[in-house]
Amino acid sequence: MALIVQKYGGTSVGTIERIQRVAERIISYKKAGHQVVVVVSAMGKSTDVLVDMAKQLMPHPTEREMDMLLTTGEQVSIALLAIALQARGYDAVSLTGWQAGITTEDVHGKARISRIDNERMQRELAEGKVVVVAGFQGLSEAGEITTLGRGGSDTTAVTLAASLQADRCEIFTDVAGVYTADPRVVPAAQKLASISYDEMLELANLGAGVLHPRSVEAAKKYKVRLVVRSSFTDEEGTNVEEAADMETGRVVCGVAHDEDVAKITVVGMPAQVGTLSRLFNALAVNQVNVDIIIQSSYEAKATNISFTVSGSDLNKALDTLEANREELGFEKVEFEQGLTKISIVGAGMINNPGVAAQMFRQLAEEEISIKMVSTSDIKVSCVISAEHTAHAVRALHTIFQLDAKQMAVVHGVS
Ligand code: ADP
Ligand code: ASP
Ligand code: MG
Repeated sequence: MALIVQKYGGTSVGTIERIQRVAERIISYKKAGHQVVVVVSAMGKSTDVLVDMAKQLMPHPTEREMDMLLTTGEQVSIALLAIALQARGYDAVSLTGWQAGITTEDVHGKARISRIDNERMQRELAEGKVVVVAGFQGLSEAGEITTLGRGGSDTTAVTLAASLQADRCEIFTDVAGVYTADPRVVPAAQKLASISYDEMLELANLGAGVLHPRSVEAAKKYKVRLVVRSSFTDEEGTNVEEAADMETGRVVCGVAHDEDVAKITVVGMPAQVGTLSRLFNALAVNQVNVDIIIQSSYEAKATNISFTVSGSDLNKALDTLEANREELGFEKVEFEQGLTKISIVGAGMINNPGVAAQMFRQLAEEEISIKMVSTSDIKVSCVISAEHTAHAVRALHTIFQLDAKQMAVVHGVS
């Protein structure tokens, strides 16, 4: 008998019929003698629908009320799944995040889980029940309902698996595993049999939406055996693990892209000690996350600083700069929206020089201009114009020999 944590994403529980199929799968695990804790997302695109409704009332609703609203989506799906299991004669109990003992930091919209008191879950499991937990939510120390950030149900599942010392955590989704690129953009993408935590963390952080980045962070930290697989088939998925078998010994394991990038250039900042610190401190105080940073001096007394932020943070960043104009002493601010960060990832890069050059050469051959570059041991990222995204992802996928002979199969989104 094993203890298994499973997570089903929005598409997988998008209709009553799909919830019934999920219930059947869970029952097959129960029949095999396993204990099962299930984490579910809100049905289909219902979280987006809730966001839209709030925005019709106010362009920037308060984060507290948004958390109150968005957590309702998961409450619908946990109750329906528990009912589907009970209808088949299996004992099941649905638990909200707070009933499951999930405590988070006191932040709305992107709270981190600080503690899990798993006593209630243990008790329900000991009574033979399937425990169905709402993903993406918790309760802060101050007693407020919080959410973990979009896509956060993956993180709920992995942290529950760590807390319960589960034998494994299975993420069931609408593709059959982690692919060498988003299979919706690259039909020739290949499913990886395994990938290391570090590579997966880079891919997730760089825009591969198949796993919430913090779920990978937690899996690595607590050594959770993590599997990503399809909720529509019985195909084997992808194991995310410590030292993944590097398979063919390839240098690049995947291409990721993030289409929500904006670039800001602060022109004519005084070139003095402390300039950078003042600028980025002002942005940090206002919760603006900065990604790639480039500083260039074009004359002795002044410097230009370019950096990227997510498109949704652009206005906040521009307002912050304007509010601090006097203290920062810059001449003017320029910005560009509609950019994509495209990245290649692979642990094999550490020992293979020339990978970045090959990426730049390929983009040049496709006549795609590179606006910014950032590198680490195991990734190279380039910022390009968003109109070239699909073309660039496919070209890099091909040049780094990731194309499969057979096309990837993607299941429909409800
Ligand atoms: P869920 O609702 O199950 O959490 P998501 O939409 O969050 O599902 O994640 C699955 C989606 O991630 C896929 O449909 C796919 O389009 C996208 N994706 C992006 N990059 C990758 C990748 N490298 N491998 C697999 N899927 C990817
Ligand atoms: N329902 C939430 C979202 O759509 C959380 C999740 O699906 O993981 O972002
Ligand atoms: Mg997801």
